[in-house]
Amino acid sequence: MAAVAAASRSDELEALHASVSNCTACRLAETRNQVVFGSGNPAAELMFVGEAPGFHEDQQGLPFVGAAGKLLERLLAGIGLARDDVFIGNVLKCRPPGNRDPLADEIEACQNHLFRQIELIQPRVVATLGNFATKLLSGNPTGITRVHGREQNVRLGRSEVLLYPIYHPAAALYTQAMLGVLEEDFRRLPELLGREAAPVEPGEGATAEIAAEPIASEAVTQLGLF
Ligand code: SF4
Repeated sequence: MAAVAAASRSDELEALHASVSNCTACRLAETRNQVVFGSGNPAAELMFVGEAPGFHEDQQGLPFVGAAGKLLERLLAGIGLARDDVFIGNVLKCRPPGNRDPLADEIEACQNHLFRQIELIQPRVVATLGNFATKLLSGNPTGITRVHGREQNVRLGRSEVLLYPIYHPAAALYTQAMLGVLEEDFRRLPELLGREAAPVEPGEGATAEIAAEPIASEAVTQLGLF
């Protein structure tokens, strides 16, 4: 029965992929080459959420294929995992021109694609890479420098997950000290994957209602999320 349910969720994820590939809900549809939906194991226990596709991702249609992707693969190998074991996606599915930061209204337009992905994949651990994914999924404006390596239970739509903020690999590419912190945070992932998700108390986790009622762009701004 569980296998049937997983297969059904995998089919639904494929259907979502097909539908998001034609999304024109924000201005980024006008400048992208293609939507970068995300890739990996559709029933992964560990999911990574980055910021947005860059130049190479936009060209190839796959997430994390540049230098940051290589680092992510190396970090995964260090804990005995490969790309195919996990699912890798982004907050935004289309590349912002010139790799600029995502805008609040773009995040508002795109966030439900991400929440639906999480609902279908049902990961035990969601590792947010950098500020944008961390602030969106935690519902907390505190920056990654202060919250990295600190897991918390959150409810995202109908899913309860262990949210684990870590630095974005791109930020660690050229900063040795940050790379050391990222490697250290990565080493805790196997332990987190073996941990049962604790029940979330009502009201705990500011994202509890996000999937049902997405954050409006004004609210995103007011919260100081971005
Ligand atoms: Fe749609 Fe998201 Fe792409 Fe905007 S970034 S067009 S909301 S898929």
